Amino acid sequence: MDREKILVVEDEIKLARFIELELQHEGYDVMTAHDGREGLRKALETNVSLVILDVMLPGLNGMEVCRRIRQASDIPIIMLTAKDDTMNKVMGLDMGADDYVTKPFAIEELLARIRTVLRRRGGNTGHKHELRVGQLVIDPERYLVTCGRETIELTKREFDLLKFLAENKNIALSRDRLLEEVWGFDYTGDTNVVDVYIRYLRSKIDQRFNTNLIRTVRGVGYILEDE
Ligand code: CA
Repeated sequence: MDREKILVVEDEIKLARFIELELQHEGYDVMTAHDGREGLRKALETNVSLVILDVMLPGLNGMEVCRRIRQASDIPIIMLTAKDDTMNKVMGLDMGADDYVTKPFAIEELLARIRTVLRRRGGNTGHKHELRVGQLVIDPERYLVTCGRETIELTKREFDLLKFLAENKNIALSRDRLLEEVWGFDYTGDTNVVDVYIRYLRSKIDQRFNTNLIRTVRGVGYILEDE
């Protein structure tokens, strides 16, 4: 399979070079750009799988680059934001970025975000496999959930929650983690929303099919497990 190509848009030459070397080491093809306009052009004119985009850039800032990429393409974008720059994080996600990493960051964190975003987007990396838990089959590409021969109708949020639980099958997940992964960091309500949606899922899955797939882990959160 072709190697994934990643575009790094970062005006700090040393940092750009560091990221480039680390990504190459991980097996990615890497292209760099050192200002916003060059970054935008390369993002749109070359066939990249993902863009790592600094917010503070000369020429055209990262927000604007992100907005313009989104007008033409849905390639995954991870923004690099300054520490505690909540404003830019929110704006970046509003502009259609997939995720953000706060500077200074550990390279492992960036690599993990890249893997997650590429996996989530799926498209460029080949086929996303169905997730199976007990009788439950979740097809992330078709937004389809079945149990035996029955289709389960879920809202987008219920689907995202179930999918994340299934991706982490047999692992206990805290409410905070679920909230962050499924609702996003900018959700400002309380964690009760997780319990509410777990209730919806239980009524649509465990109660309907008389199974016990979603288990409460006291003091922690929830786990989706094979029976
Ligand atoms: Ca910068």
